[in-house]
Amino acid sequence: MAGRFNICVFDGDGIGPEIMAPTIELLGALSAARGLPTLAFAHHPAGAGHYRDHGEALPAASMQAAAAADAILLSAMGLPEVRYPDGTEISPQIELRMALGLYAGVRPVLLFGQGTPLAGIDALDFVIVRESTEGLFASHGKGSRDGDTAAHETLTITRETSEKLFDFAFRLARRRVALGRGPGLVHCVDKANVFQAFAFFRKIFHERAARFPDIQAKTTYVDAAALWLVERPTMFDVMVTENMFGDILSDLGAGLMGGLGFAPSADIGDQNAVFQPCHGSAPDIAGRGIANPIAMLLSGAMMLEWLAERHGDERLTAAGEDLRAAVAAVVREGRVRTPDMGGSAGTADVCAAVAAALGLAVPA
Ligand code: ATP
Repeated sequence: MAGRFNICVFDGDGIGPEIMAPTIELLGALSAARGLPTLAFAHHPAGAGHYRDHGEALPAASMQAAAAADAILLSAMGLPEVRYPDGTEISPQIELRMALGLYAGVRPVLLFGQGTPLAGIDALDFVIVRESTEGLFASHGKGSRDGDTAAHETLTITRETSEKLFDFAFRLARRRVALGRGPGLVHCVDKANVFQAFAFFRKIFHERAARFPDIQAKTTYVDAAALWLVERPTMFDVMVTENMFGDILSDLGAGLMGGLGFAPSADIGDQNAVFQPCHGSAPDIAGRGIANPIAMLLSGAMMLEWLAERHGDERLTAAGEDLRAAVAAVVREGRVRTPDMGGSAGTADVCAAVAAALGLAVPA
């Protein structure tokens, strides 16, 4: 078993550093208190602020550090006023996904004590797996313009990535059955009735489904999926979809979870993984110490569980589960809430409450 994990940290922009600092403090305290492998956090520059000040969004040294690390923790990157000359925003997180082949974007949609805007729903537990390296995003940075008359972007689906993506989704559904969290069901979400690329995507889905006879495989068009996510979201267990559809549906999922401040994510490849909240850098509230750290904390819990699985260390699984349970206890209790949760507490207060629920010395 490993005695130390090197964690590459990207503090990012806006509220990024504000939610990252207490998260790594808490993760460090948790691993130390339990005698777990040391989490050696190393901060590396990247993001819109770095681009504005130094002319590069993701320096080669940062990319190398990310590739060599045992895991990557990323808060949020991008600032609306800092853009490339073509008008697009700085988003090194997309470059990282592409360069490191992080094809499986895992977006859990889970109620753990917070409300949902849907009336009559008090439990939700499903996962959106968003392909994160191709689809429409394969065109990222490669789009073209015909002067001022038209613009073009091309969507790409490959067999190699789709096979790995679907296998990931079926294995996830199987794991959820073992944990008692799902019926063993995967929905492929596509637009196979209109586009050849999605007919191909769906064909590969059925081919891979045949290898997982214990898991039910269903298909749905993305427009119907959007409707059902609102009308009857409890019908879903694992949803697997193309990059752009997943981008949109996972924000819908975050909305069902009560807001972006609650929604964690992981982008997982064969060798590397990035853990980051679903939300952006929230420049409208940056610098005030009031950002909700829960999505970041839960992304940290996902990192512990991924390291656990990869290195066969059950103590890390327990630490991840306990961190999630501590967050849930604080949310359920409802005493310490940031403004987006309807309270007036700060980021540090929420982290201190989670630390206390874990029995850790409260971070300063
Ligand atoms: P991106 O395009 O990078 O995803 P965005 O512009 O869609 O970003 P966010 O930066 O995620 O949006 O912010 C959307 C809204 O949600 C803002 O009003 C922001 O203040 C709020 N928000 C996002 N994250 C948090 C958080 N952790 N705590 C509180 N509010 C948040």
